Amino acid sequence: MSDPKPEQVGPPIALLAGLSHRCPLRCGYCSNPLELTRASAELDTDDWCRVMREAGALGVLQVHFSGGEPTVRQDLEQLIACARDCDLYTNLITSGVLLDAPRIDALYRAGLDHVQLSVQGSEGKGADLIGGYVGGHAKKLEVARLVRDRGIMLTLNAVVHRRNLHQVDALFELALTLDAHRIEIASVQYNGWARRNLAALLPTQDQLEDLTKTLEAARIRLLGRLVIDFVPPDYYAARPKPCMNGWGRQFITINPAGLVLPCHSAETIPGMTFDSVLQSPLEDIWYRGEAFSRFRGTDWMQEPCRSCEFREQDFGGCRCQALAVSGDVTATDPVCEFSQDRAKIDALIAAAVAEPDAPYLYRGGT
Ligand code: SF4
Ligand code: SF4
Repeated sequence: MSDPKPEQVGPPIALLAGLSHRCPLRCGYCSNPLELTRASAELDTDDWCRVMREAGALGVLQVHFSGGEPTVRQDLEQLIACARDCDLYTNLITSGVLLDAPRIDALYRAGLDHVQLSVQGSEGKGADLIGGYVGGHAKKLEVARLVRDRGIMLTLNAVVHRRNLHQVDALFELALTLDAHRIEIASVQYNGWARRNLAALLPTQDQLEDLTKTLEAARIRLLGRLVIDFVPPDYYAARPKPCMNGWGRQFITINPAGLVLPCHSAETIPGMTFDSVLQSPLEDIWYRGEAFSRFRGTDWMQEPCRSCEFREQDFGGCRCQALAVSGDVTATDPVCEFSQDRAKIDALIAAAVAEPDAPYLYRGGT
């Protein structure tokens, strides 16, 4: 099969607008890059609004305002209003700790459709320790109530790892108490800062088996009351996840400085050129940009992916993981059982679980 031609590629479904790398929390599982964009280099309001118009014209359906912490931007209301003017569904991905009732009212009036609120655990003391922010958990509970009081849709997002996996059932109860529509239980993706904390965060096989039972029981128990999404930890899987549902197929990410990325970790790949919204229209970048064309389709694949029956399902897995573990960005994702480097993943797992008291390193700030 040959790679799709630009005219055969559909429009992206969703735009992840990384408004700022600034964040008051210091989560050790943060997948933002080690080199954070400084506030002075962030795109301004006019540029983001132009991006929203270009995204709407391109056919994007949803905008996810993210970061860092997107509410550090005082123009967030304007950006949400711009997105809504372009008929884009708006989702705010936030830690919540900078929000209060007047700000949530302003965001709601601007047209905010949905809030995805992160929690670091099910109870205050442990959650605040993981996030490195005292009082954060209590603030999040208050924000969740303010969001639901206004009728805004709410998803709880909990990144899970060795230090909080035992709380998953309590997280479901928390989501019900807060009247959330959905909860996302997301395993740590070991990119960016999180990679430094692999030994401190990787769960054990026993923990994962317990989690599988907990999830199966909860899905039956809570059917019709709470939507449960789960992002499994791919280190323990036999085959990789379809990273971004395929490079340049559905998602477009813009970093705080305006670089357009196929995924938010792609900046870690050396030797790649990423276009900027300050220099090129979004449509040109999506259909013809060098970075988006690089791993689109299957022509770029080596064996065993090239002739594998699963290549259109997982798209060869994660390019950043291939680079980080195999040292070759075009290699099969080393998580895959068919990869010649699967033993390296097994060695990383063995080293991590042999170090149960590995230090937990907080994310550095901007
Ligand atoms: S993972 Fe934590 S530190 Fe990183 S951006 Fe999100 S809330 Fe901030
Ligand atoms: S060999 Fe490549 S395409 Fe086949 S399952 Fe592994 S990662 Fe997926």
